[in-house]
Amino acid sequence: MSQAAIQTRLLGNYINGDWRPAAAGDQLDVTNPATGEVLARVPLSGVEDVDAAVAAARAAFPAWRSRSTIARARWLFGFRQVLEAHQDEIARAVTREMGKTFPDARAEVGRAIEMVEAATAIPQTMQGRVLENVATAVDTETFRQPVGVCAAIAPFNFPAMVPFWFLPFAIACGNTFILKPSEQVPLTQELIFNLLHEHGGLPDGVVNLVNGSVDVVNGILDHPGIDAVSFVGSATVARYVYERAAASGKRVQALGGAKNFMVVMPDAVMPKTVGNIIGSAFGAAGQRCMAGSVVIAVGDAKAPLMEELVPRTQELAVGDGLDDATDVGPVVSCASRDRILEWIERGIGDGATLAVDGRSPSANSEGAFVGPTILDAVTPDMDVAQEEIFGPVLSVIHAGSLDEAIEIVNASRYGNGTSIFTESGAAVRRYRHDVEVGMVGVNVGVAAPVAFFPFSGWKGSFFGDLHAHGPDAVEFYTRKKTVTSRFFSGGETGRFFTEQGDR
Ligand code: NAD
Repeated sequence: MSQAAIQTRLLGNYINGDWRPAAAGDQLDVTNPATGEVLARVPLSGVEDVDAAVAAARAAFPAWRSRSTIARARWLFGFRQVLEAHQDEIARAVTREMGKTFPDARAEVGRAIEMVEAATAIPQTMQGRVLENVATAVDTETFRQPVGVCAAIAPFNFPAMVPFWFLPFAIACGNTFILKPSEQVPLTQELIFNLLHEHGGLPDGVVNLVNGSVDVVNGILDHPGIDAVSFVGSATVARYVYERAAASGKRVQALGGAKNFMVVMPDAVMPKTVGNIIGSAFGAAGQRCMAGSVVIAVGDAKAPLMEELVPRTQELAVGDGLDDATDVGPVVSCASRDRILEWIERGIGDGATLAVDGRSPSANSEGAFVGPTILDAVTPDMDVAQEEIFGPVLSVIHAGSLDEAIEIVNASRYGNGTSIFTESGAAVRRYRHDVEVGMVGVNVGVAAPVAFFPFSGWKGSFFGDLHAHGPDAVEFYTRKKTVTSRFFSGGETGRFFTEQGDR
């Protein structure tokens, strides 16, 4: 096959244990955002493709749910080794299609592996509860059973990790599974599903992958054969998914967009604080749902903060994420770059000043690059302080007190992540108690919970009840069945024990 043919090959869907072409005809280019190179074409599958995946997943469900819990866990143990052995290869796929730097991508794949590790605990975590003698000689037990066919719809910014917030936990609990990756980054999951296929051991239909966009999402949301839906993406679509999935009677969790504030107190240890702020705001070119995008400098913190933050931001090297010298890779697409540049202009138009100007980075002009940018003199009412920009743009607000900072954070319609930087236990206590945000960091810039804790925001950043991964995953992926039992005779007289009559 020629190089051009390899690069423009059309991806398939993984259904019932093998790859097959999508039934629907439309396609999109998958591009490397650092170079503009077309890597492949992704099919925009339709309802027929969703139907095929659901049929496979439904057919596989009875046998898979009946397999012993330890057998399901053992498959995950084996697959974990495969993922670890291919960590670099998967990370390169992430960088190529999404843009984040290779070390960042490697850490992302590490997080995906952690999800598998957490799911291997299923023989423990899926246990129910029993109480003997709820009435005389009557016992009640609650056990957990899988929900059925579960689907997950993923965003572009974590091509390896976000699908793994769901897949390992869903199948560990005995469900069968359908993934719809982001159409912007389908290659990482193609690679992972290829590894899963080569590894073997999963019955056909237990996991399925359907590539596509809105039609696949709507097909999933309306499908009577799908029992539960997990969504991660922007706030507007999260709300839409939540409402439409709930209307068709499904269990649903929908994680949406964010505007994350980082509060810096005057006693913060500045060099470390600034390192964390830079990692949070500009890591993955600001395209994390946990990216800190507004700094609130409290009282006297402002001057020492800016003194260190501005020059260190100016030193960051922008370029291809596969290049060792790069600190900040491209954003995911040229459309995204143009949108972010518009946001910077809007901030300036509203009265913000440019402390660091990243509008013309010295990187490959074919790529989707925006340099790290700091907008100073931002006020809480400005759109740049309220709306998710999802790019390497950090706004700086000044607040007179911690109470004022908390007011600003709590006025946001989002509530995904936040951080406070201080050595004061009292300030931390006040902040973590009063702040209306789901995930809080104390001297930690990206406070994303690890696999064995639940992950989600509050308010407009989340629609649903049960968060992603951790103990919540087992709650989401199981239904509780409660059995109350008694036996009328005291035993089998004369055989193994003496008749005692009713008790
Ligand atoms: P997106 O909402 O554009 O896309 C997410 C998924 O929804 C994709 O699979 C896409 O195909 C599908 N989709 C897009 N538009 C749709 C529509 N109109 N109808 C039905 N389906 C649609 O999000 P994105 O740009 O891929 O990802 C970035 C967003 O995801 C950011 O807002 C970010 O904050 C958010 N995010 C949130 C979390 C979290 O944990 N809260 C984690 C990662 C990303």
